[in-house]
Amino acid sequence: MTVWVLGDQLAADAGPLADVEPGEEAVLLVEAREFARKLPYHPHKLVLVFSAMRHFRDRLREAGHEVDYRRAETFRDGVAEHLAGHAPDRLVAMRPPSHGAGERLGDVVAEAAAGTGVDAELTIVGNDLFVCSPDAFDEWAGDEPVHEQFYRWQRRRTGYLLDGDEPEGGEWNFDDENREFPRPEVGFPDPPTFEPDETTREVIDWVTETFDTWADDAAEPFRWPVTREAALEALDAFVADRLPTFGPYQDAMVERSWSLNHALLSPALNLGLLRPEECIEAAIDAYEAGDAPLPSVEGFVRQLLGWREFTRHVYRREMPAMADANQLDHDRALPDAYWTGETEMRCLEACVGHVRKRGYAHHIERLMVLSNFATLLGVDPAELNRWFHFGFVDAYHWVTTPNVVGMGSFATGAMSTKPYVSSANYVEKMSDHCDDCRYDHDETTGANACPFNALYWEFLDRHEEQLRATGRMGLVYHHLDNKDEDELAAIHERAAAVRGAADDGSL
Ligand code: FAD
Repeated sequence: MTVWVLGDQLAADAGPLADVEPGEEAVLLVEAREFARKLPYHPHKLVLVFSAMRHFRDRLREAGHEVDYRRAETFRDGVAEHLAGHAPDRLVAMRPPSHGAGERLGDVVAEAAAGTGVDAELTIVGNDLFVCSPDAFDEWAGDEPVHEQFYRWQRRRTGYLLDGDEPEGGEWNFDDENREFPRPEVGFPDPPTFEPDETTREVIDWVTETFDTWADDAAEPFRWPVTREAALEALDAFVADRLPTFGPYQDAMVERSWSLNHALLSPALNLGLLRPEECIEAAIDAYEAGDAPLPSVEGFVRQLLGWREFTRHVYRREMPAMADANQLDHDRALPDAYWTGETEMRCLEACVGHVRKRGYAHHIERLMVLSNFATLLGVDPAELNRWFHFGFVDAYHWVTTPNVVGMGSFATGAMSTKPYVSSANYVEKMSDHCDDCRYDHDETTGANACPFNALYWEFLDRHEEQLRATGRMGLVYHHLDNKDEDELAAIHERAAAVRGAADDGSL
């Protein structure tokens, strides 16, 4: 038998790897170049995945495992080389969370077996890198799972932040104490940077020479953790320096900090370098030691125990339809500004700039600027999904799709019952971007009006039939009802001008 460890499953204590003694069975890792050619990825994404794989190989070898590390053009080539050299009777791998990936890998092994004449097949086993298994979710969920109910159920069944059967502190959710905008004197600690070692430097050179990547002209030096030790250091630094004030400022955006108090742990979590349980438990330990307040700790636990797991299972159940969902019939191209970062809209310029520099923007930048603006413009959700997928270091189909197609674009109602869209009001309230922007956040029409405003009202008007019926948007439709015909005509005119500017690059 061979244990096949996939590039986003780099955990020695998970799946079949956890059950084999070093040296007992061969371990296969395949570094397939075809993966990196599929999309114009951010260079940091490629460096992150390939460097983490090579470090994991070294770690397993140091522990005494016999690791066959194949660098090949395709997975099939890599597996065929392994079969030719090792002739195992079967390969065992954990199920990848992206839709259909397990079946595709089964086909890869079958083709490689046919090509080499080695009679081996792939056995796929459950993926332990999430807290909740598919069976447990499906047994709980019924037809229309709702995040808040799921989160409470997860809290109760894991015992995290529980006082008997009730939530610690008497509330499941402390959002009312969060959602603050930081005053100018509030500072944000710099998150740790992980200097590339020799292995990472080799990968950086190879990626630069070999692949067509996006935003390499803007990318800062690579900074992400690529080993378990570095990922644990990143977790410790978050818990010590940023968790205590994570909650209050988690919805804010400020010019002086790209990271605020966000954890920056998704790149390591999604590779398997960190387990969600250990991150949750580290945060709860800080609370119990009196080092972090409950609203911050609960906010962080909800993201990991609730949202991360919910997106994974909703995606699993909604695919393949979710990838092409488009209930608002949006079909516009993504504006050039998302590629170049060049726009006079300060918030968009800042958020695209963050992605170009580091392959990362925090949740509110993703939701309330990058996907909100594209959704109001009417961008095809599949195209937006593709942009998020190649642009972000933590992007994988299983997590990007529910967040972009579901939560961000409202192309399906599977993730939320109403769209996360807003006018300039949100950005103005929760950021300082509007202070130096050439557009006026208070204006809706006219050449200086913030593009968000006319697009927002026009979006509501255009989708009235679908959205008013959700029953959750009564108040905003009440405001729309108060606009007279002339005002609506001017809004439509301004929205058309904004779309023209988005198309011709003069936004
Ligand atoms: P924090 O804000 O500090 O949150 C802590 C952790 O909670 C994260 O590390 C992450 O693992 C988890 N988390 C929080 N919200 C979500 C969520 N909605 N879905 C899944 N996990 C969540 N997350 C990805 O991991 N990969 C993606 O490609 C991705 N694309 C997104 C696209 C859009 C349009 C939106 C709105 C969200 C997306 N997210 C994605 C979710 C979330 O924005 C990121 O997980 C988070 O910003 C990662 O940064 P952090 O580690 O600093 O997170």
